[in-house]
Amino acid sequence: MTNSRRSFLKKSGTGLMAAIAAPAILPAGSLFAASGNQKIKHIVLCIMGGGLRNSETIGMQYGNLMPNIFSTLKQQGTFFKGFTYANGPTGHYNAHTALLTGIYTKEDLNVKKNPDYPTLFEYYKKHSKNKQNAWWVSNILGPYPSLTHSSDWAYGKEFASQFHLPQEKFHLYSNDISNVLHACNIIEKYRPELLVVNMQDADIAHSNFTAYCESIKNADYALNSLWNKIQSTPGMANNTVLISLPEHGRNEKGNSIIDVNGFEGLDHTGDTASRELFCLMLGPDNVIKQNRSIEKQSGESIDVLPTIANLLGFYENIPAVYRKKMGKILDNAFV
Ligand SMILES: [Zn+2]
Repeated sequence: MTNSRRSFLKKSGTGLMAAIAAPAILPAGSLFAASGNQKIKHIVLCIMGGGLRNSETIGMQYGNLMPNIFSTLKQQGTFFKGFTYANGPTGHYNAHTALLTGIYTKEDLNVKKNPDYPTLFEYYKKHSKNKQNAWWVSNILGPYPSLTHSSDWAYGKEFASQFHLPQEKFHLYSNDISNVLHACNIIEKYRPELLVVNMQDADIAHSNFTAYCESIKNADYALNSLWNKIQSTPGMANNTVLISLPEHGRNEKGNSIIDVNGFEGLDHTGDTASRELFCLMLGPDNVIKQNRSIEKQSGESIDVLPTIANLLGFYENIPAVYRKKMGKILDNAFV
């Protein structure tokens, strides 16, 4: 066991263990009022954050920077090529919030403010059967801890996720890879029913395009490691859906900040390219369609939350007043 892992596990606390050990699979429909069937036991959402432009990912303008995603990973699920972040400012906070609340927000960045609408974690903790085992792993100081819960009176802190900000880096690795390795440790130790992890290194693109391309390769490596970890963890293997997508894109036009190789930096200020995404949904072949690519425009950021809620069987338990504001279930990926 590495030093960083040992101290991380120490920090994670022992009370948590007790809370998490209890949940087990309950006989369907016996103890609970009618609700949707749980299609899968575990969900991992990996936000390939920082802002990735389709040109460098699925467009392969500078070669295939995501060799794992576009070969072996893609075959193990459904790939949405025309995913969008359709509304709201193309800012990191807004786009993270849209993913984690299922509702677009126009709210300006405010690091101390919790979102207005409940987060995925709160819906999960209030409405799912097992309730306890939800994690949010984020590697960047800023607004992200406030995404553990909303300011909605009916939800809020009582239903917040465990938040984990990795304090130390695994040596020799980028921030993103390090963050995903922390998520892998949580998988090994707690087998979370719901885990969300983000990456952020791609945002170096504002000032260094070459480093941004490097970060895309790292994100691909990290995602592959995450999937391998899931598939080699007893209990999670073949019983987990992994959803991964960028939180927003980047502008078509450069910002005239030139890097050492003469490439121009890229911001994200709401043009078409900064709203174009892709989305990967991996899972077992009895739940997720395999080796399927959806070429046409289909799916958007606010669809991720209802899709997860449906897969975990608690979508119907979310009050209609919230469901009406959300996107739709991405059931075109379902078997
Ligand atoms: Zn940025």
